[in-house]
Amino acid sequence: MSEDNELIENKLRLRILAAALLCLTIIWGAAYFELGRSHDSIAQEAEVKTVFQARVFAENSRSTIKRINEILLDTRTHWNGDQKSFAKIAQRSQESLRDITFQFTVIDRDGFVAFSSLEKLAKKVDLNDRAHFNVHEKSPTKDQLFISVPLIGKISKKWSIQFTRPIFKNNIFNGVLVISVSPEVFAQFSQAINIDINGTMTMIRDTGEIMARYPTSDLRLGQVATSFPLLQLLSGTFWRPSKSDGVERLYGYYKLPEYGLIFSVGVPAATVLSPYQKSRKTVLAVALAISALTIFLLYQLLRSLLASERLQRDLEQAKAKAEEANQAKSQFLANMSHEIRTPMNGVLGMANLLLDSKLEPEQLIFARNIAHSGEALLSIINDILDLSKIEAGHMEFEIHPFSISAQVNFVYSTLSINAENKKIGFRVEIPPEVDLYYLGDSLRIRQVIFNLLGNAIKFTKDGEVVIKVREISNGLRFEITDTGIGISAHSLTKIFSRFAQVDSSTSRQFGGTGLGLVICKHLVEGMGGEIGATSKPGEGSCFWFNLPLPKAPPGSEIPGHEIKLEETLEQSGKFSVIPSVTIKTVPEQETNASGGVASDEADSATNAPILLVEDHPINQKLALVLLSRLGYAVDLAQDGKQAVEAAENKSYALILMDIQMPNMNGFDATRLIRNGNGPNASTPIVALTANAMKTDKDACLDAGMNDFITKPFTKEALVSCLRRNLSK
Ligand code: ADP
Repeated sequence: MSEDNELIENKLRLRILAAALLCLTIIWGAAYFELGRSHDSIAQEAEVKTVFQARVFAENSRSTIKRINEILLDTRTHWNGDQKSFAKIAQRSQESLRDITFQFTVIDRDGFVAFSSLEKLAKKVDLNDRAHFNVHEKSPTKDQLFISVPLIGKISKKWSIQFTRPIFKNNIFNGVLVISVSPEVFAQFSQAINIDINGTMTMIRDTGEIMARYPTSDLRLGQVATSFPLLQLLSGTFWRPSKSDGVERLYGYYKLPEYGLIFSVGVPAATVLSPYQKSRKTVLAVALAISALTIFLLYQLLRSLLASERLQRDLEQAKAKAEEANQAKSQFLANMSHEIRTPMNGVLGMANLLLDSKLEPEQLIFARNIAHSGEALLSIINDILDLSKIEAGHMEFEIHPFSISAQVNFVYSTLSINAENKKIGFRVEIPPEVDLYYLGDSLRIRQVIFNLLGNAIKFTKDGEVVIKVREISNGLRFEITDTGIGISAHSLTKIFSRFAQVDSSTSRQFGGTGLGLVICKHLVEGMGGEIGATSKPGEGSCFWFNLPLPKAPPGSEIPGHEIKLEETLEQSGKFSVIPSVTIKTVPEQETNASGGVASDEADSATNAPILLVEDHPINQKLALVLLSRLGYAVDLAQDGKQAVEAAENKSYALILMDIQMPNMNGFDATRLIRNGNGPNASTPIVALTANAMKTDKDACLDAGMNDFITKPFTKEALVSCLRRNLSK
């Protein structure tokens, strides 16, 4: 593989790699975004839920504390300073609050237990060291509800939170009422809240001491929860690993500032985020699957791109080879055409010379046969050449003004002899409105008409052949009708395909190569038209073609080589059979192309000196005889070099220049004559070329020649060409 190709393939690989990276970035970016979104929404939902649970916990606790406070206040109203009677009231209060408290205690103003609903005390219990006594004693006039941190009761020996209020006598501190509540009373709200199995619930004082906790653990009761964050807001959430079990949890909290308490509910992060973990797995699996699929597809794409790149390369190479081969074929055809046309020129020319000489009747028949066979052979060569040109895409169409009547009548006059020989009618119908000048390739149109009319006459034994031309919306329609053998419906579908003949017996009987209609189809379609046929076996056929042909603008100049109407008039002499034709006169002096100078008499150009440049001996002889019979004074140059020398020394009326010659070809010789100082710098130079391709003709004009005659040429073509160029 060449470096260039390797570079192209590496570029392709890099592009696919970049595309893969881009796709993966997009896929994983989307997955990351989705995971973040799902995590956030699940966490948010859980945060809302834990705050709500904390609030429920707080509200429940608030109502419990409220009840305790109310009982304390209510009991206190009965204080009359008499401990004995008050003990009964205190006992009743405890009973009314049995679901909450396990002990109602009265402390006297000295800090000793005056009454305990639990038992009769044998000895005095001193509570002077307890905060719930000290706080009231130290602020003897302040009436406040005090809530102690959990501690082990001196009488009950149980963990108790002491809810206390001072009692006064004559507004003077007179003791303390105590309702002892187990921390579990608060911790048990966990059941009401339906907390997660690994969840926690904590009631904390705003100074940090743990008041109550679920799951119940005495160990940390009353201690300051050092890891508890500073909570500014009334409620909120935070995530943190637990100090006690190390489990990361989401905590929701709610404060009751009036009691200096904070209530928190903790749910393990794993529980909170378990739906997220599930969706995470799904998202990752999907992202992984899409990534794998993307990589697979991009890999396949790369493979197919590389394959198509290689295929394209192979195709380009194959195309280059095919083009080379085509070029070689075209060259071969051009050579073949040249090689065949050169001797054909001799054969046809000599046969015509022979026909013009005095011959015995039998010799005349032989000479005519030679001429006809030569013409038939030439026609086949022309067909093959045309088909090759079409296949190679070399068929080019000219656009010039031409007379449609002149073209039809030219073919008519050429073929009428065949119709006469077969004793069949032959008519042209061109209505006056069609008898105009159009813009198109007259030569190719004529070729199609020639082919279709030729076939019609060939395949008709009795009856007649008619060609009609009429106007259609964008041009002309041609119809060639015959009363011949006709074509079956099945064969009609094939006759425009290459080498298609209805059957081999037809070709044996009538001859032909099966190329004519294919060429017609290509020519008509190449000119933007369409072609078709209808037929009935035994009754005849109608071949038609439509051509888009614009009308030539008035005053258009008719090219020199174009057939003029007068030529066909003179040539046919049979216009009586075309009653509908209006004959137009073209204001140009022309002679006819065929038999106008049927005699070899000299005209005004006679004796004009002509330089014939030709290397082929037979063609030399042919041209010399023709020209001298026409009365011209001919000098002969064997090659381009001799021609240049001759042209330097003598002034000629016209130079007939062969193209392919030894020593110097016709192009170079023409250039030298045109650019030299000799007397023939502007003498008309006419190419005598066996190369029939348009490119060859263009090359002649490019080299400085004025006109061309294609070999093999007829006497008529030569005469027409001489007159055209000598009259200038
Ligand atoms: P060729 O005439 O050289 O064989 P063409 O391509 O011109 O090739 O015609 C192909 C075939 O179509 C002919 O061989 C003949 O079988 C059939 N065909 C063409 N024109 C006519 C016609 N006017 N009448 C009957 N058959 C025709």
